[in-house]
Amino acid sequence: MVIRGSRHQPDKLPRVMILATGGTIAGSAESATQAGYTPGRVSIETMIDAVPGMTALARIHGDQVANVGSQDMTFAIMIDLANRINTLLGSSEADGVVVTHGTDTMEETAHFLNLTVKSKKPVVMTGAMRPATAVSADGPLNLYNAVAVAADPHAAGRGALVVMNDRIHGAHSLTKTNTTSVETFISPINGLIGTVDYGRTEYFRRPFRKHTHQSEFSLKGVASLPRVDIIYACADMPPDLIDCSVDNGSKGIVIAGDGNGNMNAATIQRAARAAKKGILIVRSSRVPTGKVGRNMEIDDDRMGFVASDELNPAKARILLMLALLQTRSLDEIQQLFYDY
Ligand code: ASP
Repeated sequence: MVIRGSRHQPDKLPRVMILATGGTIAGSAESATQAGYTPGRVSIETMIDAVPGMTALARIHGDQVANVGSQDMTFAIMIDLANRINTLLGSSEADGVVVTHGTDTMEETAHFLNLTVKSKKPVVMTGAMRPATAVSADGPLNLYNAVAVAADPHAAGRGALVVMNDRIHGAHSLTKTNTTSVETFISPINGLIGTVDYGRTEYFRRPFRKHTHQSEFSLKGVASLPRVDIIYACADMPPDLIDCSVDNGSKGIVIAGDGNGNMNAATIQRAARAAKKGILIVRSSRVPTGKVGRNMEIDDDRMGFVASDELNPAKARILLMLALLQTRSLDEIQQLFYDY
């Protein structure tokens, strides 16, 4: 069923807090047509001022959490962000939150918030592919649309969302597919949550997996996360990458496998040896779409591996890091990959 979001009476506008973390949406270049630029330069106040129509959608406040290109996003910032959002949405101060963020690692932070924010209220991330100073910068309309979604009661209970280029993506499914185009995010396995057209929302579905208020993951007392590495599989890959990761202290390894989470025989043996020592090995895929199933070409039961199901390597890593805070059981972690 398609649900169309409603407009609000001006005197009853919802309160939306914009938490800014940097990215290209806050980026600036020397000229309006220059391809190179520096992300994370423009303040949240300047970004809000660039979108005057937004004040008709919501009572808006802004806060600068960080100002980095998202290639420099850290778990310390993500944990701070999730804690702030939990405090805000747990109070009557905000009816929804928008997080501005670089697009490079947006899917990771979105997935992290999807697992650690404990609220049904909308949490909406947005960013831009073109810096604030560019001709046809995409940031202002993305921000306008993100605020419209965050202010919309119909967005509630759908987990962390990402609004980019008129599309509403779910945190579980979206992925970045183009290095420069404004049409970079797609939701390849399960499709879009909805669309937003100059602030008018339409919803097609709810997330199929557990998220936010249903999530069992907690950041109470958590200041850092266990190290989990991603190893990219390729033809004739050297198996000692597994040893290198373990020797440097990783508690888990996600294999960005070829095809259905594959790796060569030498790496399988080395990974199975690490698994025997208690290192959690998750098979994901370097292929941009499709599931990684258990016991397909690799005998996961015998090797002691976990299959990532629908999660790509970057998101599988986030889930594994949070999972390792509470369990090291292979069966329980496999179940978490089916549930989240
Ligand atoms: N490198 C930038 C970032 O992720 C790219 C972007 O925001 O589009 O911060």
